[in-house]
Amino acid sequence: MSMENPYLLLTPGPLTTSRTVKEAMLNDWCTWDTDYNQLVQSIRTRLVHLACASEEKYTTVLMQGSGSFSVESVISTVIPKDGQLLVLTNGAYGQRIADMAKVYGINHLVLDFGETSPVNTEQVVQYVSNHPHITHVAVVHCETTTGMLNPIEQITSVLHQLGKIIIVDAMSSFGGIPMNIPALHIDYLISSANKCIQGVPGFGFILARRSQLEQCKGQARTLSLDLYDQWINMESGYGKWRYTSPTHVVRAFDQALQELDEEGGIEARSARYKYNQALLVEGMECIGYPALLAREHQSPIITSFTYPASGLFSFNELYKRLKYNGFVIYPGKISTADTFRIGNIGEIHAQDITRLLQVIEDNRFW
Ligand SMILES: *Cc1c(COP(=O)(O)O)cnc(C)c1O
Repeated sequence: MSMENPYLLLTPGPLTTSRTVKEAMLNDWCTWDTDYNQLVQSIRTRLVHLACASEEKYTTVLMQGSGSFSVESVISTVIPKDGQLLVLTNGAYGQRIADMAKVYGINHLVLDFGETSPVNTEQVVQYVSNHPHITHVAVVHCETTTGMLNPIEQITSVLHQLGKIIIVDAMSSFGGIPMNIPALHIDYLISSANKCIQGVPGFGFILARRSQLEQCKGQARTLSLDLYDQWINMESGYGKWRYTSPTHVVRAFDQALQELDEEGGIEARSARYKYNQALLVEGMECIGYPALLAREHQSPIITSFTYPASGLFSFNELYKRLKYNGFVIYPGKISTADTFRIGNIGEIHAQDITRLLQVIEDNRFW
């Protein structure tokens, strides 16, 4: 346990970042200076390219706040007064989108798949066909609540055929799983600085289809989170944010993007996450902690484990012992089973997972 990093975060953001990402925050940057604005522009461009898109068709808007602020910015801006939003849910983050729609009085419907089943495409087709007023559909790619990976290719393909505008919360997956947003027909994709790009918390970003975003003028139901206005200001000001921008976080994010490149891009990062997640599940199941989800629905991002049957098991005891040994994990978040979660995104390598498994095995106190 070092002073510099008292523990590794095995949590889905904030997560463990590299020393160099943290060091990038040791300089102060002026939010109005052209060097800084150029950095912002370069980040916006690189994000479009990471999504396999062209700047002609897609654009990036950066938004202050945690990831939810960016989701809320999209939900509160892009649905016109006479539009109707369908939210596909199978966890807390999908539910949060529905909560946002409710707060803003947006006409919306919810199609729920429970907590441990993926979004079912056939049911989506049937539901959407029966509700012809739906204009927009929102779905979470990796439902971080459980670690469920929803079948995004199938879902977006049918929604595109049905002519719907597609909003994807790819908060915990973008940068960690390859995604081609033009091929997926995604109109708005939301993610944030502190997930698979491996930066620190402070802003989120929205990849938007230009032809859609252009139609959103004056639609926002909030001032600070007005996605259209934030975009117009960034475009016309060549990288200026409307209000104070999280300059240190942006600097760290630039460093994190460079490090993603140095690692070999999203494919290489995805391979590391996949390998470490498989190592984790295999080891945990051997020790006596079964994974909640079937392998085919499991993301390489975060895994839910069910409590062992023994009445002697206590999550708090496990948490305390792991923290003492330099690891922080997450409690579970679903109502139908007792679970806890271990994330493997961030600056986490196979040797960290191996050491974690050893500590968990040594602390099989139940
Ligand atoms: C992390 C996350 C968010 C945003 O959560 P914040 O706490 O606001 O950063 C939204 N959706 C998903 C799927 C997430 O994993």
